[in-house]
Amino acid sequence: MKTVYLDNNATTKVAPEVIEVMMPYFSELYGNPSSMHTFGGQVGRKIQAAREQAAELLGANPEEIIFTSCGTESDNTAIRSALTTQPDKKHIIISRVEHPAIRALCAHLAPQGYRITELPVDKNGVLDLENLDKALTPDTAIVSLMWGNNETGVIFPVEEAAHLAHEKGVLFHTDAVQAAGKIPINMKNNVIDMLSISGHKLHAPKGIGVLYVRRGTKFAPFLIGGHQEKERRGGTENTAGIIGLGKACELAAGNLKKENEGVRRLRDKLERELLARIPQSRVNGDTANRLPNTTNISFEYIEGEAILLLMNELGICASSGSACTSGSLQPSHVLRAMGVPFTMAHGSVRFSLSVYNTEDEIDFVIDKMPAIIARLRAMSPFWNQEGQSCAAQ
Ligand code: PLP
Repeated sequence: MKTVYLDNNATTKVAPEVIEVMMPYFSELYGNPSSMHTFGGQVGRKIQAAREQAAELLGANPEEIIFTSCGTESDNTAIRSALTTQPDKKHIIISRVEHPAIRALCAHLAPQGYRITELPVDKNGVLDLENLDKALTPDTAIVSLMWGNNETGVIFPVEEAAHLAHEKGVLFHTDAVQAAGKIPINMKNNVIDMLSISGHKLHAPKGIGVLYVRRGTKFAPFLIGGHQEKERRGGTENTAGIIGLGKACELAAGNLKKENEGVRRLRDKLERELLARIPQSRVNGDTANRLPNTTNISFEYIEGEAILLLMNELGICASSGSACTSGSLQPSHVLRAMGVPFTMAHGSVRFSLSVYNTEDEIDFVIDKMPAIIARLRAMSPFWNQEGQSCAAQ
């Protein structure tokens, strides 16, 4: 059976070009980049080239790039660095829809004496910057707001938010794990202090990430060990992963137009056709200001998990709620924060595309989804046989 992979916000296929440049680092180029000899030193030079490729995607300077193991490590490092370098400040501002890499860390920090403000979002997942302005205090150590939401794709105005934070002397971090490679990012045009990205979301392998730290920002490492990454992140480098990430960043920079035209067109077609063919379905999240590859659609009165199982039988991969929480039957914290009604939140499916998806795949999904939804609704106690909602009355 052919797989139709529409779960690219969970993880992506490693690009063949990325695999190709990584392979030598598992065989002949196994030297340690910190070694004095040429054999290891040559690997160090390649790491520097990958740093330049990552910097290029972000409009950053190469020395502002720190390689980490993943987006979660980058997020944790940014928050912990802000707290360590400003020990007198005990307040952190995030949003209600942040990824667990930020929210769970803050929940972990709260009992240690930190005050956490979680900014609300409206029914479309949109953030009101006035709430940020009101929440900033002299005690605020850092604001961390995601650039693009992993479940809905909604884009936050992080560049404006960073200005607001700076006006009050507060550091600003953004989790750009879903945004990088999908929308243009140019750190020369904003005042964001720290930014996280993750390799496996942009066609590099799992186990590699980046934390961007603006030149001049006070920084305290999270992993303390050797002198790697100019003492900003201890641990022998994941050389193959770094080389792969560099290549993936180069490809992503070249594919930005394709993401924003080709991928967006396929996403819009999928969304438009599903809404037209399936009654009582709706999109969750602000459709005007969204990542080009993501659509989160609710099919009322049925369970997202059941939909995924039937899709799975046809080889179609997607997610219900967040990829990281799809083990639980709770509606996702993102949809709850948006106040999506219970009957809608439960039946939500996130489709996330990539540059590898084809029109044929999208047509296949458009063709199969109405029967899947109709079959489940026929079994739903809230949906009568005439195809009408009963529970709404
Ligand atoms: N932040 C966001 C927005 C994500 O979507 C994810 C992964 O789903 C992460 C952080 C964590 O990244 P990683 O899986 O590399 O730890």
